[in-house]
Amino acid sequence: MAEPLHKGEKVFRGIPVSAGVCRGRILVLGRTQHAIARQSLSPEQVSEEVNRLERALVQTRQEILEVQRKVSEAMGAAEGSIFDAHLLVLEDRTLIDEVVRLIHTEAVNAEYAFHTVAERYAATLAAIEDDYLRERATDMRDVTARVLNNLLGKQAEGDLRHLSEPCIVISHDLTPSNTAQMDRSKVLGFATDIGSPTSHTAIMARSLRIPAVVGLKNASLELHNGQYALLDGFNGVVIINPTDQTLFEYGQLIRKQVTLQEKLRDVVHKPAVTLDGHRVFLSANIEQADDAEAVLASGAEGVGLFRTEYLFINRDRLPSEEEQYEAYRKVAEALKPHPVVMRTFDLGGDKFLSHLQVPTEMNPFLGWRAIRFCLQEKEVFRSQLRAILRASAHGNVRMMYPMISGLDELNQANALVEQYKDELRRENVPFDEHIEIGAMIEIPSAALIADSLARRLRFFSIGTNDLIQYSLAVDRMNEKIAHLYEPTHPAILRLIKATVDAARRNNITVAVCGEMAGDPVMTALLLGLGVDDLSCAPSLVPQVKFMVRRLKLTEAKELAEFALNCESASEILARCQELARQSAPGLFESSLSQPAGE
Ligand code: PEP
Ligand code: MG
Repeated sequence: MAEPLHKGEKVFRGIPVSAGVCRGRILVLGRTQHAIARQSLSPEQVSEEVNRLERALVQTRQEILEVQRKVSEAMGAAEGSIFDAHLLVLEDRTLIDEVVRLIHTEAVNAEYAFHTVAERYAATLAAIEDDYLRERATDMRDVTARVLNNLLGKQAEGDLRHLSEPCIVISHDLTPSNTAQMDRSKVLGFATDIGSPTSHTAIMARSLRIPAVVGLKNASLELHNGQYALLDGFNGVVIINPTDQTLFEYGQLIRKQVTLQEKLRDVVHKPAVTLDGHRVFLSANIEQADDAEAVLASGAEGVGLFRTEYLFINRDRLPSEEEQYEAYRKVAEALKPHPVVMRTFDLGGDKFLSHLQVPTEMNPFLGWRAIRFCLQEKEVFRSQLRAILRASAHGNVRMMYPMISGLDELNQANALVEQYKDELRRENVPFDEHIEIGAMIEIPSAALIADSLARRLRFFSIGTNDLIQYSLAVDRMNEKIAHLYEPTHPAILRLIKATVDAARRNNITVAVCGEMAGDPVMTALLLGLGVDDLSCAPSLVPQVKFMVRRLKLTEAKELAEFALNCESASEILARCQELARQSAPGLFESSLSQPAGE
């Protein structure tokens, strides 16, 4: 909820997920973005369509009541009663009956029928010379947008490819595919009502270096297109109508950032070695083939995680083997002799193919996702495995499987790789015969059977984003339970330790490629636990390297030992923060200081 800071401005607080500050006019998505297509129905579909409409009306009513409750609590009953007019629209039997009649008589879809009737009413009201009635037209349009949102569900996503001018995007939610489409020159920053730092939308924002804030609760309902705002991705704040005083304070914060960036630039091409001489391997996570340049500029020594599934989202067709091969080869060649770890498709969860009718699932993160999808959709998997193998002839390519939960999946995937290697040999197509294959450890069961997996693999890469989500049963996308998403939870540290121990026993390496690897507060803990490699967004690599160069492995080990014997996640976190701030205070100035009058 908005709270005043300096007089005349409104402040919305959320969760910072992508660093940076921007200013500009806002664009609120989700209200006027619907393209309502008319669809003809068969006679049998008509009654279900009316049911669908009824469900959307009930859902909309619940949403409005919830907003009304929140607004009344925060601003008083008089403000809350504004929404009575919205509820009246939903209860207007003349309107609803007319919509139902249209669905029946013309056998058309509910969204088309609702939009047609409601827009006719709204246009009539808007044309009358009476302020009260004109306001009712606005109410009608607001409610219509909500009903359409509910009818259209996931499809009601704004198109961020064709923005006419630079703006700050405000939305209830943004999917990773929405975010991946963003035109960096037009989207100055974005903020959403829901979400969390390890959602793929947040990860994408960091990768694109777009300042972003999530978890703003009701901002998208309260804000309007064209309002002037400042978005602070360091502290998780959106300020509407910032005053001169606020702008001045932010000017100082930006200057501190510039100084820090200069310091970080100094270490970019220096080795990631601790003060006591321990060499750490730092690599970058990428989502697109074009990101290779950013990897080199960040000072990373290769790619520790290429999220290849981004080649598949936002498309009408699956890319062919040839198209994939070209994309993988491009990255491998650009980064040669550095390694590039290609993760096989991790589709599902919150990342979908736009063109495939993926069934709606009750628990998509526990569902038909990643290796599970690939082992069933063998042709999709075959084209990817062949493309990666072929690209391995052109650089230092490694491959890893996501979401391995047990040995059978690993054995099946390895058997397919052997089969496609044979195919390529028969076709005389070159590939790296010694290509290293690893697996992500991101499901607790995999960490617990890490010994069995390690005997069949060359490396592990711990996906802490999912490992935390699955171990603690905390949806990584849900801001309401973000406080329970604790990377320093003793259970997580034990799972990481078990994975590292199994890797050691079997003489393989272990990396971390989840968001924990990009947080300099966690660097000492991970190194102390015995992790060899860290991989994070290119934008975060310099700060992690800066931290590595200011730590001693001995103190990192002491920290890890303390953590493994400690029962409290918050105590462990406090010790991590203490060591990080002592070692590299300059890294924390912008993110920890509270600008704007705090
Ligand atoms: C992870 O789960 O930590 C990971 C790196 O994979 P993703 O974020 O793509 O699920
Ligand atoms: Mg994962």
